Parts: sequence; C-alpha cells; structure tokens
Amino acid sequence: MRQYNSLRDIRADIANGQVSCKQLVEQYLRNIKERAELNAFLEVFEEEALAQADAVDQKLANGTAGKLAGMVIGIKDVLAYKGHSLQASSQILNNFKSLYNASAVQRLLDEDAIIIGRQNCDEFAMGASNESSAFGNVLNADDHTRVPGGSSGGSAVAVQADLCLASIGSDTGGSVRQPAAFCGVIGMKPTYSRISRFGLIAYASSFDQIGFITKSVEDAALLLEVVAGKDEMDSTASQREVPPYSQLLTSDKKYKIGYIRDCFEREGLDTEVKDAILGVKDMLRDAGHEVEAVEFPYLDYMVPTYYILTTAEASSNLGRYDGVRYGYRSDNVTDLTSLYKKTRAEGFGHEVQRRIMLGTFVLSADYYDAYYTKAQKVRRLIKEKTDELLQAYDFLILPTAPSTAFKIGENTANPLAMYLADIFTVQASLAGVPAISIPVGRDANGLSIGLQLMTRSFEEPALLAFSNYILDKITVEA
Ligand code: GLN
Repeated sequence: MRQYNSLRDIRADIANGQVSCKQLVEQYLRNIKERAELNAFLEVFEEEALAQADAVDQKLANGTAGKLAGMVIGIKDVLAYKGHSLQASSQILNNFKSLYNASAVQRLLDEDAIIIGRQNCDEFAMGASNESSAFGNVLNADDHTRVPGGSSGGSAVAVQADLCLASIGSDTGGSVRQPAAFCGVIGMKPTYSRISRFGLIAYASSFDQIGFITKSVEDAALLLEVVAGKDEMDSTASQREVPPYSQLLTSDKKYKIGYIRDCFEREGLDTEVKDAILGVKDMLRDAGHEVEAVEFPYLDYMVPTYYILTTAEASSNLGRYDGVRYGYRSDNVTDLTSLYKKTRAEGFGHEVQRRIMLGTFVLSADYYDAYYTKAQKVRRLIKEKTDELLQAYDFLILPTAPSTAFKIGENTANPLAMYLADIFTVQASLAGVPAISIPVGRDANGLSIGLQLMTRSFEEPALLAFSNYILDKITVEA
C-alpha cells in the first residue's frame, strides 16, 4: 500500500476502490509493530480501531460518512478518551481510566476519525525532548540517537514514521510545534481559546491549547474545523464562529512579513537553521512580499517569564494528584500527610517534581510579588509588543527551535539548556496567538528544520493558507 500524506489522497483512493479504512488501519498497525523501537505509542487500540474502520467503511458505502472518514489518528496521552487509560505518561495516574471524552476527542469521533492509539509524551507535557516520560524515551525516526522533541514526541514520530496519518496533541509552550520541527512534519497551535480544553489534562491553564501534527496543511485545517468552537463544558472556549478553514487554503495576496532580527542574531542559533529560515525569507521577498526586519526587545525575558508562570500554574493544577482521589497511591503510609508525601514522591518523576517546587516557590507569600506578579506584568508587555508587531505585519517568521533534533541525553543534566530549547516557541504561547511550524529543509545530518509563522489571534485561515503557499513554493523551487 502506498504511503499517504493527506486525507484527500486517502479519500480519492477509497472512492476509486484502491483502499478501504480497514486496509488502512491494518497497514498502520503493521507499521506500528515494525517500528516498535520508536516507542511512539503507549497503547494501541488494535481491535477497536479495526471495528471503527469497518463501521466507517459501511458509512462510506452508504453515503453517511463524516468529514474525517478515512483519517487514522493518534491521541497524545493527555486527552480523555472514555473507557481508556489516561496517564499523561506518569506513574501517578496508574490504573486511571477516562470517564468521559474530551470535547476534542468527541468531535473527532463524531466526524468518523479512527483513533488508533494513545501516544507517549513528556510527563504531564513538561519537556522538550520526550525524555521525561515514565514510559521511556521516544526515538526520532530519522536518527535513533536523537530526540523527537517534546512534549508531543510520540505524536510527532507517529506521523513522521507513518504509524498514523495525523496526531492530536497539546501545546503549552511549543509542544506541538517543536517536535513537528524535529520530525519534519507540520505542527499547528491555534489561538488560545479556539479549541475547548475540556478533557485535556491541565498543565498551565492560561497557556494550554490543543494542536495538530499532520503531513499536510489541509489536514491541519480540517482537524481545526472539526474540533474548534464553543463548548458548554469549557466557558473559556471562544464563542466565535468557526470558519471552513479547509476551504480557505489558497491566497494570492502579497503579505507584509516581519522577521525578528534579535532571533537571528542570537548566540546558540544553529547556523544551518538560521540559513534555511533566512533563505525562505529571501524567497518570499523575491516573490513580491514585503519583508522587513523587526525589533523585539524581550527575547531574553521570554523563557524566564514562561517558566515562572507555567510552573506556578502547574503547581496548582497538579495539586489534585494526592493519592486519595484517583491514580497511584503509595502503600507504606502511616497517616494522611505521609500518604500525600509518599504518593507524590513516588508517583511524579523528577522534572514534574522540580516544576511543582519551582511553582510553589514563586507563589509563596514572600516571593509572590518578586516573581509571579512581575512575570504577569512582563507577559503583558510581551503580549502587547507581539500584538503591536502583528498589527503592522501579517506574519512574523522565525525558527521553530534554535537547533535541529539534539542527541538523547544531551540536555538532561542541564534543565536550563533544555528550557532554552523553547526560546522561539513560547512567544506565541505567552501572547496567545496562533502559530505553526512547517518543514522547510534539512541540515547536513539530514535532520529536519522547521520554520515558524505567527499571526494575529483568530487569523488561522491566513496562517494556514500562507503555510500552504510556502510549502508549495519550496517544492516547486527544489
Ligand atoms: N518545553 C515546554 C515545557 O516544557 C513546552 C511544553 C508544552 O508545550 N507542553 O514547558
């Protein structure tokens, strides 16, 4: 069977009798088994996916199939899928099963997507390399000695290695975009609030957003179209109408594009990544777009602000894992305090514990103003400056990450180095604006380079159309 890069191709082959959903699922299941060493899936829903495939084949035959019929998708282990295990790649949620579907998952099912399995990720989505999962590292399919990025590492590798057509993950500070960049696929984080977070395990609630990993822009658009929109289960989800994103993918407009000079002048930015992104910038200028360097003075404050605020929110959100209500509970306890302490010490991994401690510290009475309040103010400045730039420019372009996929173990001893991997992705998260990573080239080691585009809130149609345009142009010029 051929390898598919979009639902459109799959649907065309289904229509002319070349393939069925059942055959597709069988093929993906074979691929998953053959590439088991990648460790992309924590659980594969073999029987269920096959049964779903049969049901969708029937619907396709009688003309009642939904928009996502033929799409075989994996879900990151932070999204609730009723009756299935949900662990955020953590021991603390051992034996926990979802009692309901996340709204996003429900909407996928309503449109006949086939869910093939639950994907590995960093524990509680905290990480940039998938090395903090309680269930082992995920390997980058391009080079097994390298990380896939994180936290949605399993989701990105699954798409990279053709273990499913698409994945749905979460992006708090880059967790969809950065692994997509490391794995040579597309990763999109919509505007904060565009998608309901009901049923998404909370990490940092004022940042968390569901996103997609795909091989085509059209699939990302289709998924967004299906999943976005108001939800009575999440009052923070935007009430705005959902445009038909997948019908809005062409644009012949000449845009005004800013590239953040400070990002490109930054020490630590890999020169091959820099050259690739600047090459695309020149290509856009040659094609008649207006491209200008812009100043963004807050680059050095981005990572500290992000980590103060997200650890603060995480320390509060993760308070619920206490061994009393659900998941893991330590055996050797003497009283309630020791139950809490032992359960949390044994159930959470090191990175999660570090963040809970950091978050508790920045929220403590003596330091609250010095850290938390101050970081809130800096976030406001970053947001205002980003919005101001996005009033003057249709898009900002920058690298998704300062390097290509790094070696497994390279950053584990130095959390600060790991946090700096997020330097270019956290801006969109702090500002709440939509952003996407698209693959624009490879370095001398054959590792993928991602270009990031940011735009104004709720301007996903333009973001998707322009991404499509750039990818087409790169293919034509290659
Ligand atoms: N690497 C970032 C962090 O560890 C981003 C994680 C995410 O987006 N979930 O917080």
